[in-house]
Amino acid sequence: MNGSLEYKTELSESNRISENPVAPEQEKKMATAEVISMPTNVVSAPPESCMIAAVDLWKTYDMGSEQQVHALRGVNLRIERGEYVAIMGPSGSGKSTLMNLIGCLDTPTKGEYWLNSQLVSELDDDELARIRNKEIGFVFQTFNLLARATALHNVELPLIYAGIPTAERIERAKGALTAVGMESRMTHKPNELSGGQRQRVAVARALVNRPSIILADEPTGNLDSATGNEIMALFDRLHSEGNTIVLVTHEHDIAEYAHRIVNIKDGVVERDERKNK
Ligand code: ADP
Ligand code: MG
Repeated sequence: MNGSLEYKTELSESNRISENPVAPEQEKKMATAEVISMPTNVVSAPPESCMIAAVDLWKTYDMGSEQQVHALRGVNLRIERGEYVAIMGPSGSGKSTLMNLIGCLDTPTKGEYWLNSQLVSELDDDELARIRNKEIGFVFQTFNLLARATALHNVELPLIYAGIPTAERIERAKGALTAVGMESRMTHKPNELSGGQRQRVAVARALVNRPSIILADEPTGNLDSATGNEIMALFDRLHSEGNTIVLVTHEHDIAEYAHRIVNIKDGVVERDERKNK
């Protein structure tokens, strides 16, 4: 079994047809003209030592019969180590698409994506999978835990993919579960846990590989507001311990936990606000 497959199942949720899939003809031509006029001998260099640098990121989905969906239309975004960023925007604005690119689940149609000074947008699928397992911890709205596996085994999975020996694996998985307050539930399976507890297990799984970034797409979307706030308090603590967190949400209350709010609209960054916390 392969870790990326687990994560890919979540993607199918965003594989829906756009409500408004036809891009203006003019825009298609402009995009093509830009590509053609690019010099072919450009050697890319990392744009400063930034943890995340997205440079003019485009993602276009081909829907057949010449229909295209421009989910992202030139996103520019830099995120430094230790930041806590919320990505907000209406449904269909491109939040999940951007998250998938940041999380190395997908590559852009055009533009550059740098992660820790590595040009991810040029990598093939195997290299993407490797960098994803090493650098990214995912937390999903629907938890994405293996139903038949215990909490401990779910948290061990990323370490199995990373080839960590059994004893160290169990030690680290127990440590991660303890860090999220789940030490007394390690042998429980997901259906023996509440929604909030499942999400804690998912957070432990995201943490266990000591990733560069924790990416959370609507992590409180399936939780009642009290439980959602508990999960957000957990993210707060992880951030204060030095973790970099990028969170997608459409709820203002949830975004308020972050120190920076990036608003996406129609596939571009519309507003980028930092708060003095
Ligand atoms: P959000 O997460 O902000 O709701 P998405 O990133 O999921 O938005 O989607 C942005 C746009 O791209 C939408 O119009 C959506 O329908 C379209 N889209 C997303 N994924 C796919 C896909 N795999 N194939 C075709 N269109 C897609
Ligand atoms: Mg989404």
